[in-house]
Amino acid sequence: MHELGTQLGWQFGAFWLLDDAIEQLRCAAVWRSGRYSEFEATTRARTFARGRGVPGAVWEKGEPVWMKDIRDVDRLPRQEVARREGLHAAFAFPIFGVAEGPATARSGEQRTNIIGVIELYSEHVEPPDEHMLNAALSLGFQLGIFIESRRAHDAARSQRVRNAAVVEIALDCIITIDHEGRILEWNPAAERTFGHQRSEVLGRQLAETIIPPRYREAHYHGFARYLQTGEGPILGRRIEVEGMRANGSTFPCELAITRVPVAGPPTFTAYLRDVGDQRRLQATQELLLRASKVLLSYLDGHRMLCDLSAVVVPAFADWYTVDVVQGDQSIHRLEIKHRDPEKVHLAKELATRYANRAESTHGARAAIRTGRSQLVTEITDEILRGVASDEEHLELMRALGLCSLIVVPLRARSTVLGAITFVTAESRRHYDKRDLVVAEELASRAAQAIENARLFADVEDARELLEQQATELEAQAADLETATSDLESSNAELRRANEELTKRTAEAERARGDAEAARNEADEANRAKSDFLAAMSHELRTPLNAIIGYAELLDVGIRGAINDEQHGDLNRIQRSAQHLLGLITDILNYAKLESGRIEYEIESTSLSEALKAVDELVAPLAAAKQIACDLRTDCPDVRVCADPDKLRQILINLLSNAIKYTDDGGRVGIRCATNDKHVLIDVIDTGVGIPADRLDSIFEPFVQVERSYAGHRQGTGLGLSISRDLARGMGGELTVRSEFGQGSVFTIRLLADGHHRAPSHR
Ligand code: ADP
Repeated sequence: MHELGTQLGWQFGAFWLLDDAIEQLRCAAVWRSGRYSEFEATTRARTFARGRGVPGAVWEKGEPVWMKDIRDVDRLPRQEVARREGLHAAFAFPIFGVAEGPATARSGEQRTNIIGVIELYSEHVEPPDEHMLNAALSLGFQLGIFIESRRAHDAARSQRVRNAAVVEIALDCIITIDHEGRILEWNPAAERTFGHQRSEVLGRQLAETIIPPRYREAHYHGFARYLQTGEGPILGRRIEVEGMRANGSTFPCELAITRVPVAGPPTFTAYLRDVGDQRRLQATQELLLRASKVLLSYLDGHRMLCDLSAVVVPAFADWYTVDVVQGDQSIHRLEIKHRDPEKVHLAKELATRYANRAESTHGARAAIRTGRSQLVTEITDEILRGVASDEEHLELMRALGLCSLIVVPLRARSTVLGAITFVTAESRRHYDKRDLVVAEELASRAAQAIENARLFADVEDARELLEQQATELEAQAADLETATSDLESSNAELRRANEELTKRTAEAERARGDAEAARNEADEANRAKSDFLAAMSHELRTPLNAIIGYAELLDVGIRGAINDEQHGDLNRIQRSAQHLLGLITDILNYAKLESGRIEYEIESTSLSEALKAVDELVAPLAAAKQIACDLRTDCPDVRVCADPDKLRQILINLLSNAIKYTDDGGRVGIRCATNDKHVLIDVIDTGVGIPADRLDSIFEPFVQVERSYAGHRQGTGLGLSISRDLARGMGGELTVRSEFGQGSVFTIRLLADGHHRAPSHR
C-alpha cells in the first residue's frame, strides 16, 4: 500500500476488507504521507455497507471509481474531513476473490466476487487516467489471489499450531510410532509418566521403552500380525495394560491405539493414561469397605482386630500385627499374620526371643507410647541394626526381607488402646504418605469400633441390670397386688364388721335410749313416790303432833283431873303417837334421801362426842330391856370426816336396832379401829342375828326379816337403808356380819380426819 501510494503519487491510502459476519467493508490498513491524521481516524472508525461512501460504491459497481475532486460530489460521509485536510482526487478499485460466489453486475464474463477495496486520495485535483484504471483491475485480481492464498496458509498453520498445543498440554501420554514400532512422537505427559525425555526415546522401540519384559513377546506378536493381516484386536479400543517406568517400576494404565490416516507405511498413535491413582483409590475404598464390614460384624474388639488380618493381608500388607494395652498397662501381642504360617511361627519365635526394646523409636511400643504413627518407606539395614538385639537377631530379620513399614496407634477418645503394624516384604511394595493415610483411617475405624463395642457392652450391662430391676419390680408389683387384694378383702371384712358395728351401735343406742327412757320413767315414778311420801309425812306429822300435844295436856290435867285408867290410856295414846311419829320421820328421811335433797356438812367430828349424844337417847331403851349397853371405845380421841347430825342418826339407827333385836339381858357395845385412811366403828349386839341369805337384802328399803324368828318388833324396814345411804353420802360405807342366833356386828366405815374429801351432795 505504501509502495502503491508512493509510486503512483497519492498521499492517502486505505485497504478495506469485506467482513462477512457484518456484511460491511472494514478498514484493515491505512497509509498516509505524514499528514491527514483526522481523516485516518475517521477512516479507521468506519465501516461501509454496499453502496455507501467511496468503498461501498466500488463494492456495489464491482469496478474502479475515480473522482477528480471529491468536493464536486454530494454527500460523501468523510467529505467534510477530507476537505478540511486538503484532499481532492479519490481513486478506488476492487480486490477480487477467486473462490466461487455471486458475480458482480459488470463482470459477468468472469465469475468473481469482491473481497476488498483499495482506496487512494490525492492532495491534487486529478483527472481520470485510463491506463491506471486498467492496471487497477489487474492489480485487484492479483491482490485477491495473494490474500486468499495467504489466508489458506494461515488457516493451515493455525490448525497445526492448535494440534501441536493439544499434544503438548494433553494430560494423557500421546506416543506416535512407525510401522516398525519406533517412537516418532513423545509428548510431555509421556515424559512425566514414564520418566524418559523425548530426546532420548525418539527412534527407540516402543516395546523396549514402556512395556514390562514379560509382556513384550505378546506385543511383538500382535504387532506383526496386524501388519500382515490388518487385524488388530486392540486397535481403536480402550484396554488396560501394565506400563513400565524408566526406573523399572510398573503401573496400571489405560491404552487406546489409533492408526494415523496418512498414505504410505502405517503410523500409529497411542494414548496412555496412568490409572494407578484411580486403581489405588478403588483398592483403598474396597479395603476400607471390607474392613468396615469386619468392624461392624462383631461386638468383641479383640476379635475384630484379629479378623481384620484377612482384609489387610495381602491386599495392603504382607505382615499384619496388632499389639494391645492390657488392664495392667502391659502390652500384649494380640495377632501376627502372614500368608505363610511358617513365617508367622518364625516371627513369633523372634518376638519371644528378642522382646521389642521399650526405648526403640520404631515399632508398636513407640507408637503406643507417643500416640504417633510411623512411616518407613524403606526398611534399611541401618534400621534393622538399630532394632536388632544381636548379630543373630539381625540375620534372622534380614532373612525376612522386610521392605516397608507403617505403624499406627489405635487412639480412643482419651487413651491409646494399642497399635497396628503393617509391613511389606515379598510384594516389594513401598509405602508412601498416601498409604499412611489409609492405615490411619483403618486404625481410626478400628479404634472407633472397639470403643463402640465397649459402649455397647456397657449399654448391654445396663440393660441387663435394668431387666433384673424390672423383674424385681414386677415381683414387688405382684406382691403389692396380692397385698392390695388381701387389704381389699380385709377392708371388705372391716367394712362388714363396721357395718355390723354400726348396726349394733344403733341397736345399743336404741337399747340405751329405751333403757334411758325406762330409767327416766323409773326416776320419774321414784320422784313421784318420794314427793308423795314427803308430802304425806308432812301432812301426817301435823295432826299427829296435835294428838300428842293434846294427849299431854289432858294427861297433865289441864281439862280437869284424870283417873289412873285415863292416865294409862293417855300414855298408850302418847306412845303410839310417838311411834307413829318415828315411823313418819323415817319415811320422810328416806324420801328426802331418795329425792337427793339431803345436804351434808362434812367436818372433823369427834366419835366420842357423837356417841355421848346418842347415849342419852338409847340408854333408856337399853335399860328398859336390861341390856348392858356400853358406848365407850378404845380410841376416845378418834375424829372422823362426817356430818355430825348424820353420824348421830346412823348411830341411833344401829344402836336402837341392836337393842330392838336383842333379847332382854343381852349386851350391846361399840368397838373402834383405825387404819391409815379409815375409821371402822362396829356396833355389836348379842341379839337374834340375821340369816346368811338375808344379809344383803336387809339394806333394801322396806325389807324386814321374817317375823317368825325376828319376833314381832316394830319398824318400817327403812332404818338400815337410810343409814347406808347416809354413810355412803359421807364417803363411807355400812356393812354387816352376823351369825344367826348369836348376834350381829354392823360396821360403819368413815374417812379418818385429815382425809377430807369434797362434800358430796345427794
Ligand atoms: P326395822 O324398822 O324393821 O327395824 P330396819 O331397816 O331397821 O327396819 O331393819 C330391817 C330388818 O333388819 C329388821 O326388820 C330386822 O329383821 C333386821 N335387823 C336389824 N337390826 C338387827 C339386829 N341388830 N339384829 C337382828 N336383826 C336386825
